Formats: sequence, C-alpha cells, structure tokens
Amino acid sequence: LSPVPSDIEISRGQVPKPVDLLAKEIGLLADEIEVYGKAKAKVRLSLLERLKEQPDGKYVLVAGITPTPLGEGKSTVTIGLVQALTAHLQVNSFACLRQPSQGPTFGVKGGAAGGGYAQVIPMEEFNLHLTGDIHAITAANNLLAAAIDARILHESTQSDKRLGINKSDPSTLTAEEITSFVRLDIDPATITWQRVLDTNDRFLRKITVGQANTEKGFIRQTQFDIAVASEIMAILALTDGLADMKDRLGKMVVASDKKGHPVTAEDLGVTGALAVLMKDAIKPTLMQTLEGSPVFVHAGPFANIAHGNSSVLADKIALKLVGEGGFVVTEAGFGADIGMEKFFNIKCRISGLRPNVVVLVATVRALKMHGGGPNVSAGAPLPKEYTDENLKLVADGCCNLQKQIQIAHHFGVPVVVALNVFKTDTKAETDLVCQIAKDAGASDAVPCYHWARGGKGSVELAKAVREAANQQNSFKFLYDLQLPIVEKIRTVAQKVYGAEDIELSPEAQTKIDNYTKQGFGTLPICMAKTHLSLSHLPDKKGVPTGFILPIRDVRASIGAGFIYPLVGTGLSRNSSVLLNENKQQHLRGGKKKEERV
Ligand code: ADP
Repeated sequence: LSPVPSDIEISRGQVPKPVDLLAKEIGLLADEIEVYGKAKAKVRLSLLERLKEQPDGKYVLVAGITPTPLGEGKSTVTIGLVQALTAHLQVNSFACLRQPSQGPTFGVKGGAAGGGYAQVIPMEEFNLHLTGDIHAITAANNLLAAAIDARILHESTQSDKRLGINKSDPSTLTAEEITSFVRLDIDPATITWQRVLDTNDRFLRKITVGQANTEKGFIRQTQFDIAVASEIMAILALTDGLADMKDRLGKMVVASDKKGHPVTAEDLGVTGALAVLMKDAIKPTLMQTLEGSPVFVHAGPFANIAHGNSSVLADKIALKLVGEGGFVVTEAGFGADIGMEKFFNIKCRISGLRPNVVVLVATVRALKMHGGGPNVSAGAPLPKEYTDENLKLVADGCCNLQKQIQIAHHFGVPVVVALNVFKTDTKAETDLVCQIAKDAGASDAVPCYHWARGGKGSVELAKAVREAANQQNSFKFLYDLQLPIVEKIRTVAQKVYGAEDIELSPEAQTKIDNYTKQGFGTLPICMAKTHLSLSHLPDKKGVPTGFILPIRDVRASIGAGFIYPLVGTGLSRNSSVLLNENKQQHLRGGKKKEERV
C-alpha cells in the first residue's frame, strides 16, 4: 500500500501460516518441534544429529555503518533479503535474528521485528516474551545471585564441624560434600555477579540487600542489570549444545575468595540447577516473515559488554536446513566496527562457521549526518538537510561507509552494500553512494526498497549477494589468541577503529595482569565501546583519526569465553582530544548516550 501503513498495522494485517505447516515446508519432522501457540515453535537440537551429513548453505552477515539517531535498518534489510531470496528467487533461506530486550522495546529504540513490508510476524509475540527465554535467563541468573549471598551467610554462621571441613581425613569427603560444605571464603567486595530483570528500572541500579533480621547484618550494596546483560545470555548465544552450555555455566566466575582465587558457579554447586532452568531456552524459536519465509529468533546479548549476535545454534541448524545452495542471513548489532568484528573474532571463532558475504547497510540520511549534517533528536521533525537533495553531505559522509568496507576486507570477506532507501532520497544521491561504495572495493552496491515493497524491493540485493557468495573468500581472524591481552586490544583499536594507540588505566593494567595469571589470557577480546563513533567519543562522526583509545577497566566473562575491556571517554589529554581533526570529523553537541556496562 502507499503510503506505507504503520508497522503494527502491517503486522496485524497478515495472518501467519500455522507454524507446524511452516515447519513441514522447511523439512522439520513433527517430533522435532514444540509448538507455542499458533505462530511460534521451539526446534529440538536432535535435528543437528539427523542432518549432520547435510552440507551447509551460504552464511551471510548483515552489518551497518556507524549508527546515528536516524536509523539504518539492519533488521529490515535482513528480513527483506530473506523474503527476496525465498519468495522471489525461490532459494531456500533463513533469517536468524536476536530476541529483543523489553528495555529497548519500551524505550526510545522500540522493538526489533523489522519494519514496513519487511517484518517478522506477529510483531507483539516477537517483541514480548517470545517463548520465555529471557525469563529463563532471569531465573537462572537470580538463582546464582541468591546462592552467593546465602553461601556467605551460611559460612559465617556455621561452625567448621557443620560445614564438614574438619573431618580428620579430607579424602573421605564426597564430591557433594566438597561443593556443598567446603568453605569458599568469598570476599564480598569482589562479587561481580548482579541480579537482573528485563525492565529499565532505574531505581534498582543501586540497592542494598540483606536487611531482614534473619540475614544477621550481612548487608551489602549491589545492583540490578537488565536481563540480557547477564553472562548467561552470552552463553546461550555462543553454546553449541547442552553439555557445552552446562560446562560454560559452571565456569562463570562470580567473585574471588579472600586469597584472590576465582570463585565459580560450579564452586557454589549450582551448575545443574542453572542448566535445567535453561533446558528449553537452548532451543531456537521458529517464526516467519510477512511473506512466510522462515526465521529463527534466538538469544540477544548486548553488543557492548557482550558480542551482540544471535545464537550459534540457530545459525548451525538453519545452515543445515537450507542445505547446499541455500542462504542463512544473520545480523550483528551496532556498526560493523563492533558487531561484525565480534561476529568474526568471537562468534565465528567459537562456532567454527565461516562467513561468505557481508551485507553492509547504509542510508543516505545517516551518511549525511556522518558528512556533517545537523544532529537530530528522536521524534523531532527532520531538518531540510535530510529531506532535500544534498550531494555534498552525502559525499562527505561516505568516508564512514568506505572505512567499514575496509574493516570487512581486513577479514577477507566480500562486501555488498545495501542502501536502504527512504522516500525522500533522490536518484542522484543513491547513485552517488553506490558509486563510492564500488570504488571503495565493494563487490556490489544496490538500493533496496523492501521497506516499501517487501521482498520484491530487495531482489537486486539478493542477486548481488548470491553473486558475491560465489567469489573467492579468504576469511581470516584479525588476531591470534596467543597474543597477550594488551596486544589483542591494541590490534582491534588500531586496525578496526583507526586509533593511534591505546592507553590503559592502572586498574585496567592490574586486571589484565590478574586475568593472565589466572590463565585467561588466551580468550578473545570483546570491546565495550560507544557504538555512535568509530572512536571512543560519541560525538565524533565520519572517520575520526589520531586518537588514543582509553581503556578504563577490563572485565571477563569466563563462561561465555571473552575478556571485555571497558573503553572510557578519556584518561589523559591525548585520549580525550582528537589530535588530528580533518574535514571528515564533526563535533556535535548532541546528548551523549552512556555506554552500558
Ligand atoms: P536497525 O536494525 O538498524 O536497528 P531496523 O531495521 O530495526 O533498524 O529499523 C528501524 C526503524 O526504521 C523501523 O521502525 C523501521 O520501520 C524503520 N525503517 C527502516 N527502513 C526504513 C525505510 N526505508 N523507510 C522508512 N522507515 C524505515
């Protein structure tokens, strides 16, 4: 329809086909699905065993230029591309998407089901509750939090005799007695495990627990995080099966003991309980697009303190289901410098899967902002720079697109640029972007109209992706895991963000030394940096150069399997001031978004 109705009107205007019919169409057996209502089903992991001899399809990652408040449309492109492949080119394909958190869904960002005629339906079921995975994570996370405080209380109030550690011969302790009764001597000041819930409840950001008389004065300050920030979410996204998930849950480090040794979930004896709470969450949820193409929705880790990609399991199952000649299209959060870098260096390294093509999403309006267009606040009317033709702003802003193409090429993967067209874009503007992208080495660059026209608006993109998937691909990781932690951070900062160097706070250096001593030095790096700039300063659009990236702290998710440095906003004059401003950099006075940590 024209004008295009609202996202919710479009979603409600289409009745999804029954999910058991969809499952049958894509080759699932009746006992491989567990139906939730009419439009969703969990898919059993036994499928991987049945299809293990089946060759994988092609693996496509959708990433974006540096995000702006004007929006780029990565989810919309992902869904439009799969609709074009499946419904218009008759190629077996699957979209694999993240489950959104209730925080952003009810916040400024809104849901994540796509938009216009490129959506997952029903939108409400996609955005809210889904099949309960986030609730399961919340339950498991908070069980572990309760176990930590209970353990500290019990150890302090029970004698060694009752704890069982003064048995004359320690070798007579059973395994159960060791996990249940041996003193862990947790140092409360070192607890890093927080409680979570899936709501932006700012009044729970700092809380005091243990105030009931029964807690005997064991009062401490702690906090609530949003549920999807739990390490358990990152584990769900990276695991390849139940045994591996259980192993990772057990390895999660929650605190140190009074001698400085790490204390894990396994030490607390709760690994089995956590795994059983997660036994259904580990199965991906099958849904469909507006045009009936299959979609897996599974896991939604944030892209700062975690890696920002949907699950390895959903991708693996989808690659088997589409088989040779088919396509699986998945999406990475934030800009390519963050989501794509982590997709390659963390997700692909852990899964063993290798990407065939990167689709890089850009919009004319976002490029104009990178080229020096005025800042805008959400919901305000757009200034004329974004609604009228302005080739100079477009040309200036394409530096960000060129840089993101180069980043993908560092990994040896072909890039197709998807220019998500808005109704105010002119032909001269879209032609200009496509030309600059091709000159920068993209295999192809195509305007896409899926938002207004559905799958048929992205057929050219689908053809370009099919073509690029057959090209020579020399995928490689950016760094070797054996490099020291500092060198891995420096490599990402210099090769991806374009920093001159990094600068570590004393705290970050101490943490790095400790993690290395504890044997965690060979884990990959997951940078927690602002997504609004290639640098650490959210106001710097385009391609900032000459900056020193400040690392203010370093933390670790040992169960998920990565070290996450927290990028600050400036330690010294050098790091907070860009040394080498050029015409592509534009300082803007907009509201700074806080990094989530
Ligand atoms: P991202 O995945 O990059 O966060 P989405 O695909 O979720 O972005 O799109 C964000 C919002 O922008 C959605 O509400 C969507 O309907 C809208 N949108 C995306 N592309 C277009 C377009 N070409 N024209 C108008 N609105 C669009």
